[in-house]
Amino acid sequence: MIELLSIDLSNYCSKQCSFCYNHSTKAGNTMWQPTEVIAFASDCVAHGVKAVSLGGGEPFEYDGVFDVIDALYPLCYLSVTSNGLPLENDKVWERLVKHKSDKIHITIHHPDDAEEVERVTRLVEKIGIVGIKPGVNLLVGADKVNEASKVYQKLIKVLGNEQIILVPQRFSNTPSPKQLSQVAGGTPFQSPSCLLGCKRPEDFCSVSWDKKVNSCSFAQGKVVMETLDYKGMMEALGKVEWKSCEVISPSNL
Ligand code: SF4
Ligand code: SF4
Repeated sequence: MIELLSIDLSNYCSKQCSFCYNHSTKAGNTMWQPTEVIAFASDCVAHGVKAVSLGGGEPFEYDGVFDVIDALYPLCYLSVTSNGLPLENDKVWERLVKHKSDKIHITIHHPDDAEEVERVTRLVEKIGIVGIKPGVNLLVGADKVNEASKVYQKLIKVLGNEQIILVPQRFSNTPSPKQLSQVAGGTPFQSPSCLLGCKRPEDFCSVSWDKKVNSCSFAQGKVVMETLDYKGMMEALGKVEWKSCEVISPSNL
């Protein structure tokens, strides 16, 4: 039974981080039409999905994102994960205020970049004021544990620990679980459930910008959906040969 659905709306993103897991760039493609996203996610909700998360690429650089938000908000718990940069634009911000999701998570990619940390902290407070639940995804690289720790101490003054997700950098420079705990100063923290070992999630489906699915956004071997509906998603998930992204190895523990 899939209850949590993540949809990457495109692989277009003008931030172009070198470590982006789906290689989003300014040259990135968009395959999903807003009407397709709405019909697909609505059918999934009708079959039991309770929460939908929109990602990318950068969702606030996707034409039609506010149509998607308006259509899905009444149906399910709707969150958006963003780098926050497009929300610095007054016109985009004004549209968000009129077309709210339940939650917005802003990602800090560079805890050693004071300007990025300041920008995200300001934005998170602003999001909370307009009645959207804010959160932060704090990307932690093995070489930035001390810097991430300082950022965590700053964020925990304005957010609950359930609103801050420590995201271990993937594919290289991956921190150990102990290093993540160090970031949170030894206090309880949120992070992906596979921190101590790869385990295929049973209630989650990740749908990529090119209409493929897997049980985890980082796992290899995504399978294309034959039809853009719940049935197509479940059939494609059933064909996935589960393989770890291999970032969690005993040497990381
Ligand atoms: S901001 Fe996010 S989606 Fe954009 S390039 Fe960086 S990691 Fe990828
Ligand atoms: S594939 Fe990677 S990110 Fe996904 S559950 Fe396994 S270890 Fe975690």
